[in-house]
Amino acid sequence: MTGGPNAVARMLGTLGDEWTLLIVQQALLGATRYGDFTDALPVSHSVLSARLRSLVDEDLLTRREYQTRPSRAEYPVTPRSRSLWPMLTSIWEWERTWVTEHVTPLPAMRHASCGADFSPTLTCRACDTQSTEKDVVAQWGPSGSWARSTPSTTHRRRSGERRLGAGALFPQTMSVIGDRWGFALLVAAFVGIDRFTDLQTELGAPPGTIAHRLATFTAEGILHSTGGRYRLTEKGRAFFPVLVCALEWAQRWYPDPEGPAVLLTHRGCGRRFHPALVCDQCCVRLRGSRIMTA
Ligand SMILES: [Zn+2]
Ligand SMILES: [Zn+2]
Repeated sequence: MTGGPNAVARMLGTLGDEWTLLIVQQALLGATRYGDFTDALPVSHSVLSARLRSLVDEDLLTRREYQTRPSRAEYPVTPRSRSLWPMLTSIWEWERTWVTEHVTPLPAMRHASCGADFSPTLTCRACDTQSTEKDVVAQWGPSGSWARSTPSTTHRRRSGERRLGAGALFPQTMSVIGDRWGFALLVAAFVGIDRFTDLQTELGAPPGTIAHRLATFTAEGILHSTGGRYRLTEKGRAFFPVLVCALEWAQRWYPDPEGPAVLLTHRGCGRRFHPALVCDQCCVRLRGSRIMTA
C-alpha cells in the first residue's frame, strides 16, 4: 500500500503557483504591507487577497494587525518562507540566463557582502566542492515513489483567473513546477529515464499527458529528442540547482515520519548531498539576507 502525498508533492502543491512565488520573493525583499505588494507586482486585489490568505494558512507569511479602525495588517515572512531564498535565487539565475522571453530582462542579483553582481554557484555543504548533476546520485527514500511525489491538484489558480502572460517573471520555471507532471518528468530526465514508454510506465501518467509535457520541454529547449530518446540540454541541466534547492526545502519543512522521499549522495565526498550556494565573485557562502536586486 502506498502512503499519501510526500514532501515533494506537498511542496509542489504549495509552490506550484507563480503568484505565490512572486509574493514570497517580494516579502523576502522587504515587502510587508498590502500596498508594498501592489506597488511591486501587477496583481489584482482579488488575487492578492486570496494568496495572502493561503500564504498565511501555509505558514509562509504571518498576519499581524498594526491598526484596528480601519483594520490594517502586515505580512512578515516566517522561517519557512525565509528558507526559500536558495530556491528563488536559483530560479532567478536560471530565468535570467536561459529564458529569452522576458519582456524586460530580469535585473542582476547583488551580493551585499562583496558589492558585486553575482551568480550563485551550487556546492556540496559537506565538502564545499562545486557540484553539478553529474556529481549527485539520487535514490528514492522510504517515502519516495513517483505516485506519492505528484500533487493531487497542481495549484489553486481559480478558473477564470488569467495567467500572468507576457508580464510573467518566471514563465518557464512554471512549466516545470507549476504543472502536476512537469516536475516529475524533469526529475525523471535527470535520473536518465529518456524513452517515452519508460516515462509513461514509471510515472503512471496518461500518454497524452506525457506527450504534451515532452513537447513543451522540447519547445522550451529544456529537452531535445534524438532517436526516440529525450535528453536534457545544457539549459535543462542548468535547472539542477532549482531542483535540489526545492527538494531540500520540501524535505526540511514537510518531513515524513517514514523518512525522506529522495536521498541525494555526493559522489565527491560520499556524504549526503545538501545544497549550499556560493557567490561566484567572492566565493563566500551566500545568505538570504545578503542578496538584493541590482
Ligand atoms: Zn561533498
Ligand atoms: Zn560575493
